[in-house]
Amino acid sequence: MTNLQVDSADREESVQTDRQQMQLPPHKIRIFGLFAHVDAGKTTTSEAMLYHTGRINRLGRVDEGNTQLDWMIQERERGITITSAATTCQWQGHRLHLIDTPGHVDFSAEVVRSMRIIDGAVIVLCGVGGVEAQTQTVWMHGQREGLPRLIWVNKLDRTGADFDRVVEEVRERLTRRAVAVQIPVGQEGEFGGIVDLLEQRVFMWTAGGVEEGEVAAVLQDRMAPARQQLVEAICETDEGLLERWAVGDEPTPEQLRCALRHATLAGELVPILCGSALRDMGLTQLLDAVTAYLPAPLDRAVETGTDQGGAGGPLCAPVFKLVNDPYMGHLAWVRLLSGRLHSGETVYNPRTGQEERVGRIFRMHANQRQRLDRVEAGDVVALGGVKGAITGDTLCRVEAPMQVEEISFPDPVITVALAPADPAQLERLQRALLRLCQEDPTLVARYDGETGEETLAGLGELHLEIAVDRLRREFQVEPVVSPPQVAYLETVRRRVEAGATYRRQSGGHGHYAQVQLRVEPLSSEGGVVFVSSAPGPGQADQGRGRQAGVPEEFVRHVELGVRQRLEEGPVAGYPCSGVKVTLVSGYFHPVDSCGMDFRIAASMAARQAVGQAAPGLLEPVMRLDAYLDSQYMGAVSGDLGRRHGHVTEVSMRGEQQHLVGQVPLSQVRGYASHLRSMTRGRCAFILEFLRYELVPSAEVELVVEERRRAGKWPSSR
Ligand code: GDP
Repeated sequence: MTNLQVDSADREESVQTDRQQMQLPPHKIRIFGLFAHVDAGKTTTSEAMLYHTGRINRLGRVDEGNTQLDWMIQERERGITITSAATTCQWQGHRLHLIDTPGHVDFSAEVVRSMRIIDGAVIVLCGVGGVEAQTQTVWMHGQREGLPRLIWVNKLDRTGADFDRVVEEVRERLTRRAVAVQIPVGQEGEFGGIVDLLEQRVFMWTAGGVEEGEVAAVLQDRMAPARQQLVEAICETDEGLLERWAVGDEPTPEQLRCALRHATLAGELVPILCGSALRDMGLTQLLDAVTAYLPAPLDRAVETGTDQGGAGGPLCAPVFKLVNDPYMGHLAWVRLLSGRLHSGETVYNPRTGQEERVGRIFRMHANQRQRLDRVEAGDVVALGGVKGAITGDTLCRVEAPMQVEEISFPDPVITVALAPADPAQLERLQRALLRLCQEDPTLVARYDGETGEETLAGLGELHLEIAVDRLRREFQVEPVVSPPQVAYLETVRRRVEAGATYRRQSGGHGHYAQVQLRVEPLSSEGGVVFVSSAPGPGQADQGRGRQAGVPEEFVRHVELGVRQRLEEGPVAGYPCSGVKVTLVSGYFHPVDSCGMDFRIAASMAARQAVGQAAPGLLEPVMRLDAYLDSQYMGAVSGDLGRRHGHVTEVSMRGEQQHLVGQVPLSQVRGYASHLRSMTRGRCAFILEFLRYELVPSAEVELVVEERRRAGKWPSSR
């Protein structure tokens, strides 16, 4: 296995002055991503595109683990892409920013994040596998984000490849608006060329290279109906062309291309292209299609109403990824939506209220970098120096603060406990976890001072598995990892008041605090809300020397005591949520009382109050969105019922049924493979966190028992 030691000589660096930097008009820029089901050939396709744009001088092979984009070790090992890197290249006078995107369903938050910063997408399909589960998932995300798309049918050289069948599948399962703009010449072992239906030209690949020519008579029979279908589809989106077409006036390829571009940007048509990335067939045509049909930054900004005036507008640079580069340190990847930025300038982060100085600015080609003095709207670059920024922040100017709509990420719902194998490594583990969480907002780390355990919560088992793997490899910490646990919460269902007194005499000095708390369910939000309605210091209570009221400086300690207690609920020791705690009243001793006394009394009172307030256990319930063939509907909904879930909505989409349902997370371990085998792979789904719900009382004991067996309950606190 090769390791992550990238020879610094590989990372050629060039500083470009303003004059050398190619200043391009905005319509010459494309910011796009490739999306695919795992194994459809996304990495190979990206590589081949980079090869043709001259950024790399030999084609890497995924199988040999030497591709340039997948440079993180575990990506090489697993053969899946888990982080987005951005690569810049030039094609026919255009600047392309290719954002590498994750393919696995467990990283849907990353999929959504990449979709928010690109203007268009290429969906890569396998010519054999066709529309696969994750193709549909990614398609659904693209649809939600209103992203213009192209489809590239790859692997037409493979045994079993069938372009027409894949096109039919696309039209059945993804969209009726998809239309082929190319057809292959031969398939499987015979795959030798591509017909461009618009230009009516053929490209043939031979040992000597690629040759362009007239479409031979033998191909005309296949080409004619396909072209007819394409031209009709395009004309239907453009009234002018339709009228001319109706009277037998054939539009020119240029007119058709122009109309197809408009239709693609508007989501009215989705062009389908084909080829083989491995054999390097059809890649230049795919690059041409990216420039011809996918939007330039301004097209999309106008479409989505986010036009900020381009380079002349105020600086607006959302951070979409953080990278801890072994050579360049902390890098924040941004896309400049508007404005300009010079290295050395300060930028403002509205979330932190801080200004930071931008150090070096880089454009990247995976492990090669190019240093820039300045950048402007339409660029995707990595910034050094902005250490306070995290994913989702918007960098701007203090005089024109702005925050691009915050991306809402799903809550993490599954947890592993991590204990350092060697206690001396604890600090290192904590630092590493902090880094991971900064880079990926869907990971949440917590430290339990009692057990000395760190817990890490994420969106799914594989999500956590990869995070742990990164700890080992990038941060050299070897934690002992517990099996994944569902992240339950606890809550209260009744309003209750309870009080507690803490009194102790230690030597000459006494301790005293009394607090009265009210605990009640919060109507909507989760979390714990603390308020104080206790009066300040009042009259001295003559007999005992105590005084009514809670002085301001102790209220903070009451809150701390309450919050600490509520980290561990009374049912099974899970954190409390949806709870409002009010400090109603209290007593203190002017000489004896200290903050810690109030913390202890508050903790005792909170324990009592929550215990009496009909505590309950909450579990994460997931929303299931699935597309499947009708024949499997009965089996899938029956299975959902057995998993304590239910169907909430069913509708038809194309030839398929769209099922929406709900199911507790605890019941869907290994659901993906189960669903796939139940439907013979004819199902795509997104499973995402919906809300927390009460666990039925009959099942609470099972969860408590599992906690007991794991030695987590009752706790030693
Ligand atoms: P990704 O998971 O979508 O990034 O897919 P990869 O690019 O890693 O490719 C998965 C496998 O398919 C690898 O073994 C590639 O060599 C192979 N592959 C990719 N493109 C083609 C192609 O056009 N033809 C054939 N026959 N194999 C391909």
